[in-house]
Amino acid sequence: MGEEGRKLRYAIIGAGMAGILAAIKLKQRGEQFTVFEKATKIGGTWRENRYPGLTCDVPAHAYTYSFEPYPEWRSYYATGAEIQTYFEMVAEKYGIMPAIRFGCEVSGLVYDDSRATWTLTLASDEKVEADVVIVASGVLHHPRLPEIEGLDSFAGPAFHTARWDDSAPIEGANVGLIGCGSTGVQIVTAINKVVNKLVHFQRSPQWIMPVPQFDYTDEDRAGFRKDPALMDAIRYSDDYIGAIIRFTDAITDIDGPKMAEIEEICRQNLETSVRDPELREKLRPDYRAACKRLIYSWGYYEEVQHPAVHVETGRIARVEPQGVRMEDGTFHPLDTLVLATGFQADRFIRPATVSGQGGATLDEAWKVRPSAHYAMTIPGFPNFFMLNGPTGPVGNFSLIDIAERQWDYIDQLIEELRAGRARAVVPTAEAFADYEQRRIDAARKTIFASGCSSWYLDDEGVPASWPWSYDAFAEAMAKPVMSEFEFAS
Ligand code: NAP
Repeated sequence: MGEEGRKLRYAIIGAGMAGILAAIKLKQRGEQFTVFEKATKIGGTWRENRYPGLTCDVPAHAYTYSFEPYPEWRSYYATGAEIQTYFEMVAEKYGIMPAIRFGCEVSGLVYDDSRATWTLTLASDEKVEADVVIVASGVLHHPRLPEIEGLDSFAGPAFHTARWDDSAPIEGANVGLIGCGSTGVQIVTAINKVVNKLVHFQRSPQWIMPVPQFDYTDEDRAGFRKDPALMDAIRYSDDYIGAIIRFTDAITDIDGPKMAEIEEICRQNLETSVRDPELREKLRPDYRAACKRLIYSWGYYEEVQHPAVHVETGRIARVEPQGVRMEDGTFHPLDTLVLATGFQADRFIRPATVSGQGGATLDEAWKVRPSAHYAMTIPGFPNFFMLNGPTGPVGNFSLIDIAERQWDYIDQLIEELRAGRARAVVPTAEAFADYEQRRIDAARKTIFASGCSSWYLDDEGVPASWPWSYDAFAEAMAKPVMSEFEFAS
């Protein structure tokens, strides 16, 4: 707190990766904050998703907070359960657990301009005041269920991957799996050998980028404990960060040599890995690699060739009590139906209602598309900061790194409030409009807009993402342009 400063009250919404980060950073500053978490545990996406095969396709040593490396990872890519353990360990270690209110869903937020204060309403109807709101509510947390006739009539367990039913028959059972995104692909590689039959309903095939997976030995872990620089060497290696930089260069220069290289690696992977020519053609996408989120996998092509797996490329007509009927009349009898059909990617903090200056609502501000100035702040919503908000970088990066960089930017804006130089900060409408137009123009030229369906696209078909390079993102996050903000005193 500066000489003239005031003690701010912070509300952090969500105790997943980004909320834990904000809490740690505020605690280290000696600030007064509360984390509101709707569930009974921390972890966000890693708490919600427990499906077989769940692995983060960012190398484990790059998927940690930069200030808290973790020597204990079992393998190059970590399982979801291990990552959940990591976040629980970090939250305990940094002493933020007492500041988290569990079972506290925030259902509404209203800004009072005269007092520069937010009032949060909890699902219990309790009201809480805060000066600064940090929205860390995640992106992919509202399952999208497919609109398929008869889905409710299925006699066995039918559930979304983020609501995994541990009692559902998998071993020795006939399992149907609808969806072929990162989630569906990982599930194939995990259950193909234990089921009796796995029918993988694939509406669109995926390009697969081959990556290595290997276990760390006890000796490796001892080495990491002794010399943390060994972990940094992985995090900042050419294999990871170098590849990310090349990837973002490629998606923004779609006819350039780096994209051609990615496409060729994926094509070669398909040609050389899938032996049966009929299956190979079923698995061949008709759109460009990296248009949908590129799938990094070390085992999918091998595992999908297992005799228990049948890739069904026909159109589903309806779900019946005993299985799935295809439009050509084929019937697949099933015991369990798994819906790997993705998420509603435009929700963010919603369904909570948010009312900013002059009573303007977030739904109105986001009528065309969810967006925010550099993905973090919104005109008309002062002292309201989003981590991993709309139009931030998406792709195959560590969202932890993205959130840390965003925090550094946000923290510099909040410093104006802490130091007492302003009571409220909000981006100007002009600065945001300029940013958003440049973003949209650039996004339309990325590989994500090259002709495929994906959750990256908004209702108008514009990729809802950061459309420039990783380096440009790092540079933009290093320091906010203060003239793009109004500071009210
Ligand atoms: P997704 O990428 O949105 O994929 C949904 C799948 O369901 C697609 O194959 C889609 O087909 C299919 N689908 C949807 N409705 C359908 C219907 N009515 N009939 C038939 N098929 C239907 O969802 P996701 O796989 O859950 O992945 C979402 C995101 O989560 C990923 O892109 C990634 O960002 C993240 N994720 C990350 C990891 C990781 O390792 N880091 C792992 C899992 C997930 P179409 O393609 O034809 O639309």
